[in-house]
Amino acid sequence: RSAPDGADPAVWERVEDHPCFSEDAHSYFARIHVAVAPACNIQCNYCNRKYDCANESRPGVTSERLTPDQALRKVMTVASALPQLSVLGIAGPGDACYDWNRTKTTLELVAKEIPDIKFCVSTNGLSLPDHVEELAGLNVDHVTITINMVDPNVGVKIYPWIFFRDRRLTGIEAARTLHERQMLGLEMLTERGILTKINSILIPGVNDEHLIEVNRSVSDRGAFMHNVTPLISGHSHGTYYGLTGQRGPDALELSLLQDRMKGRGTLMRHCRQCRADAVGLLGVDLAQEFTTGDLLLAP
Ligand code: SF4
Ligand code: SF4
Repeated sequence: RSAPDGADPAVWERVEDHPCFSEDAHSYFARIHVAVAPACNIQCNYCNRKYDCANESRPGVTSERLTPDQALRKVMTVASALPQLSVLGIAGPGDACYDWNRTKTTLELVAKEIPDIKFCVSTNGLSLPDHVEELAGLNVDHVTITINMVDPNVGVKIYPWIFFRDRRLTGIEAARTLHERQMLGLEMLTERGILTKINSILIPGVNDEHLIEVNRSVSDRGAFMHNVTPLISGHSHGTYYGLTGQRGPDALELSLLQDRMKGRGTLMRHCRQCRADAVGLLGVDLAQEFTTGDLLLAP
């Protein structure tokens, strides 16, 4: 396929088989997430890790936790069953850059066996700057950072604490540190030509208006794509709530905000908020078909 009108052919070539970075690709190419990174270094008010990471989450489904060796076996099994598989993602259930050794070992093991698979890593960004060099060395071509604010005064309403350089930080210091690290990580990725998608969770009354500023800020720093998804952490009587009782937005609120962001950077509208152990085409999840239990029995 040739690049669509207006698209840079060099960049198009890098995203044309990534189902998340290219809307055209999402019906044809499959991705697999391996849940090798259980630990996280921040607390988001909306997160409940009884479920998958809200970096890339939806409620009510639990992940299997894999060792890097188990992850390799799973990726190889899926690759032989699904010829459309083009991307291996590490998206939690905690943070892929905080649980770095497990992420790195998994990528190294898979690269040896399936050299043409693309790697995609999702992170909250706090530890990201410490690993950008290694991500580039591992040929990670796509990174997703969850950025919900660029103003620490908004951040204090979203993050009760972070764990950074062996210290637990709270309040404005925590939000400011997280913000600075996210911006630094994004700039470092852009400098190295790694394509970066920004995920933002829309939390009505907390960061809804503010996401316009987030969009401007990340576009200015070279983010390739901005993906705004609704808060979904708990569920009661048909409405989703965060851990602080915050309701999730309805479809109209989300789409009105996305409309206001049009024109700056590429907006993603086809995200399916996948589980940390998702397998298959977006929206056609095969996670239950490829569980570790099956793999341990596989030859
Ligand atoms: Fe939960 Fe992900 Fe936030 Fe960590 S970064 S607290 S795993 S939503
Ligand atoms: Fe792609 Fe969104 Fe699923 Fe991540 S959560 S794999 S960006 S569709």
